[in-house]
Amino acid sequence: MNIHEYQAKAVLKQFGVPVSKGVVAFTPEEARKAAEELGGPLWVVKSQIHAGGRGKGKFKELPEDAAGGVRLARSIDEVEANAKDMLGNVLVTHQTGPEGKQVNRLYIEDGTDIADELYLSILVDRETSQVAFVASTEGGMDIEAVAEETPEKIITFSVDPAIGFMPLHGRKLAKALKLEGDLAKQVAKVGAALYKAFTEKDMALLEINPLVVTSDKQIRCLDAKVGFDSNALYRHPDIMELRDLDEEDPAEVEASKYDLSYVKLDGSIGCMVNGAGLAMATMDIIKLYGEEPANFLDVGGGATKEKVTEAFKIILSDPSVQGILVNIFGGIMRCDVIADGVIAAAREMDIKVPLVVRLEGTNVEKGKELLSQSGLAIIPADNLADAAEKIVAAVKEAA
Ligand code: GDP
Ligand code: MN
Repeated sequence: MNIHEYQAKAVLKQFGVPVSKGVVAFTPEEARKAAEELGGPLWVVKSQIHAGGRGKGKFKELPEDAAGGVRLARSIDEVEANAKDMLGNVLVTHQTGPEGKQVNRLYIEDGTDIADELYLSILVDRETSQVAFVASTEGGMDIEAVAEETPEKIITFSVDPAIGFMPLHGRKLAKALKLEGDLAKQVAKVGAALYKAFTEKDMALLEINPLVVTSDKQIRCLDAKVGFDSNALYRHPDIMELRDLDEEDPAEVEASKYDLSYVKLDGSIGCMVNGAGLAMATMDIIKLYGEEPANFLDVGGGATKEKVTEAFKIILSDPSVQGILVNIFGGIMRCDVIADGVIAAAREMDIKVPLVVRLEGTNVEKGKELLSQSGLAIIPADNLADAAEKIVAAVKEAA
């Protein structure tokens, strides 16, 4: 789960990480009030969307040469004018895709006088089971280009979570960022605080770009992008409250209500599968037969009629779905129960696209019998390859 920059900064502040003062605003009036409260003389008006690259982003509704989603303002009037420009408009960045994201919230920040922009991120390194630090002296809005063209300027080291962030790591960080003296001490402290926030809050990613040196020689985090490990959210109710459903795919939000793992993809064949591994294999084999999956969907172990119906609804809410492949292995679940669920859901939903069902496992014969007696145009399949071949053929025929 991701959160907004202003929320991330509030979390980091609890751990003693230096951030600028700021106030969130939902309207131009609130932006004005926030600016008055902060006092100036320099403010930053920042679009809050769950995507990076805002500074270089473009608003769909504004002229091509208009400023991006992060703007400096030198008066309260200017803050308000920028807020009017941004709120309600759609910001397109290299991370949003061409459809962009509507800006519904702004963060009004105290402007910082920047001497140097650095880069720092922390993530879980699955290969070594450690916490990886990625640092570069080349922070700012072009970090992707740095990674591409001068990868030697990006330095990585790991922290063993069994040991934690030690003075040695502070020194490594300072060295990577080419900081000395008091700035080296400061950045070691900031690194330790970020590490503590990362591990205690079960973050999956923490990216500070830019991490700056101010003109009065202070280290400060000017941007913060934070993602959390969803499997650990149950122990962080404070973080769960920060979820912004406007930022998530509506179908994925709907799916999560029914405990279905759904991820929308770009293809034409909707998939309903039990078990994540089987779902991945199903997607692979659809590709092998020449089509693309429209989604990943794991209905989980207890695929009840209600869950199967919801799953059909979610799959069919995607207009690019031209056929559905149901692939269920009845282990704990019995195939006849699943068949009942599929039949009931198919009747209720009046599915107009081809539907291939492959069942295997406990009570499979009874399940198949129910499907064939249902009177529904369900195409039965015997195994995974057969199912993929049949759905691809049916979709091609219907097209
Ligand atoms: P992003 O484009 O989504 O990564 O948004 P950032 O929060 O990183 O802001 C983009 C850029 O705006 C930064 O790289 C800075 O160059 C600039 N910026 C952000 N905050 C300030 C500030 O307080 N003072 C100044 N001078 N520039 C800022
Ligand atoms: Mn940034």
